[in-house]
Amino acid sequence: MDKIDAEFDAGQARSKAVIRPEEASSILSTLNSDGSRRWLRPRPSSGRFLTRRRAVAVILIAIFTAIPHIRINDKPAILLDLVARRFTFFGKTLLPSDTLVMALLMVALFLTVFFITALLGRVWCGWACPETVYLEFVFRPIERLFRGAPGRVNKGGFVGSPAAIGLQYVTYVLIAAFLAHTFLAYFVGVDALAEWVRQSPCEHPGPFAVMAAVTGLILFDFGFFREQTCLVACPYGRFQSVLLDRKSLIVGYDVRRGEPRGKPGKGESISLPQAAGEASARGDCVDCGLCVSTCPTGIDIRKGLQMECIHCTQCIDACDAVMTKLKRPLGLIRYGNQTDLMAVEGMKSKFRPRLLVYPVLVLILVSAAATVLATQGDATVLVMRSRGATYVEREDGTISNQARIKLVSRVDREHTYTVSARRHGQASAGSDLSVVSEENPYVLGAGQAHTINALIGAPREAFFSGKLDVDVLVHDDAGRLVAQQRYMLMGPAGGTRRSKENP
Ligand code: SF4
Ligand code: SF4
Repeated sequence: MDKIDAEFDAGQARSKAVIRPEEASSILSTLNSDGSRRWLRPRPSSGRFLTRRRAVAVILIAIFTAIPHIRINDKPAILLDLVARRFTFFGKTLLPSDTLVMALLMVALFLTVFFITALLGRVWCGWACPETVYLEFVFRPIERLFRGAPGRVNKGGFVGSPAAIGLQYVTYVLIAAFLAHTFLAYFVGVDALAEWVRQSPCEHPGPFAVMAAVTGLILFDFGFFREQTCLVACPYGRFQSVLLDRKSLIVGYDVRRGEPRGKPGKGESISLPQAAGEASARGDCVDCGLCVSTCPTGIDIRKGLQMECIHCTQCIDACDAVMTKLKRPLGLIRYGNQTDLMAVEGMKSKFRPRLLVYPVLVLILVSAAATVLATQGDATVLVMRSRGATYVEREDGTISNQARIKLVSRVDREHTYTVSARRHGQASAGSDLSVVSEENPYVLGAGQAHTINALIGAPREAFFSGKLDVDVLVHDDAGRLVAQQRYMLMGPAGGTRRSKENP
């Protein structure tokens, strides 16, 4: 035991030696040396990318807010009705019976994300993710409005006062409540939401509790958790090492141009570029630290490609402003790839298989989903043999098979479905087969499924060698044939000989 204890202590000592307090921030950019959280208040950097990102953010916020109010084919543009398991996308409703289509589209969506990441890196994170859009273009600007710019001391005025901070949180709550309502409208529809909003919470405690919880989560995320969502909660960033290759678009620091970094010496003009090749020549990075202080995840991009970098381009704008002042070329930090920016050895081949494989797979999956959607009828039928006697012969000579007939609606309206049967390959009119059930016809709601117990009857002489091949047919209330299945009825072995009527 002593030996084990000693090894354990040695292991503890080693692990303490590996992660020293002063190294904490290099392990996680938001970690102080004492283990507490380092709160980030990134300094906004104006520039061409911030202007473009702000425009994209406004458009995305407008789209997110408007979609629940838009109707296509008299349906909401997007409605994810989890309770009824019906998902409407731009006029087309997917029902529980469309599991295959949904699975195909879901895999296609993942592969599309893989493809976009391989090509454009984390463009989603920096430009379109709701976490980035709302944090950087809604919540942080409000914070700066009430607390003042990061690093600036506010003396005496309203900005930064307890009243201003209180007002900031009131504004946060209002925005969070609005976002929660918009978010829930995607799941219940604006009509139901409008009705609930007009009523007392006591009349609909469940939805009210959901609304309050979502508001609280939004407040927690944008008011407290913030960049931690990207750093420790979101799985997407952790897949970067496999999703990116050396030619993928990234935001990066040009190591060859920037290093060796350093502030200019005494009497040295900062605005004059050093002649290349001089012994004392410095790189273009003047180590001003602005690219770090503007970073919303608190990292130093000069350390290379990091999982924490969401490719938000803030450091590009910050560094471009410095380069402009120094009269040096822009783009010390820029969009590029690892080979170009970080002196990482390039890929031997220009051909990047993933850029071909992903789109081809997506095309195949989307085509398969479209084919299934285009070829499926309004309903499906599945006939299954019931347990017990194979067949029953009635007094009038009719042979009955007990069967379980599963009906699945594929339309988003209620219909009455009638099940009938005919000899396989023959016309329905004048069929001498019967389908008897207390539940035939049956009223089936939109997208619902139901199994009825039925007796499928046929005359004894219709059987050949104890078998009769039949078609089980399903008609809707408009008389349209919406589904059919071939089925084998069992009967007496000595039913009849092969004839023209019973080939
Ligand atoms: S902003 Fe540019 S010049 Fe300043 S430290 Fe960053 S890379 Fe160097
Ligand atoms: S390193 Fe630059 S691009 Fe990456 S998150 Fe920080 S500011 Fe954004």
